[in-house]
Amino acid sequence: MALLNIVKEGDGVLRKVCRPVTEITPRILRLLDDMLETLHHADGVGLAAPQVGVLRRICIVEVEEGVVYELINPEIIAREGEQKEIEGCLSIPEKWGITDRPEKVTVRAMNRRGEIYEATGEGLLARAFCHELDHLDGILFRDRAVHMLTDEEVEERFGKRQG
Ligand code: ZN
Repeated sequence: MALLNIVKEGDGVLRKVCRPVTEITPRILRLLDDMLETLHHADGVGLAAPQVGVLRRICIVEVEEGVVYELINPEIIAREGEQKEIEGCLSIPEKWGITDRPEKVTVRAMNRRGEIYEATGEGLLARAFCHELDHLDGILFRDRAVHMLTDEEVEERFGKRQG
């Protein structure tokens, strides 16, 4: 496995619409493994392929440690309720915003064995699904934010930042 470079906002790759995966090749499996290692290293809850420069409809989500969702060609098939919470992105370091997301979503996706499955998430998991799927269409949380936190608000919420 290898650590991948996480692309930062401003790089055009984050604004592209990704292509579906038509075949699960060893290269795709390797990408999934590398993305998970990269996600762990960055201490995030989700990572999408365009964030590592690959324009394919692939993302991973791990909100609860050890419970990893590998989502290939994912789509949201049901959404319910509403939540307004703080969201950030590994590609937009040090920035947070309040987004309006469904409280509960069900996604349908393919796993690494090529099997179609469905997963339902609430709260943070629902948010992570929505956030990562947005990346596959070139959408960043900033686009959905009803309010981006100011530096003062970030300090208030998270305390004095180090470094
Ligand atoms: Zn993101």
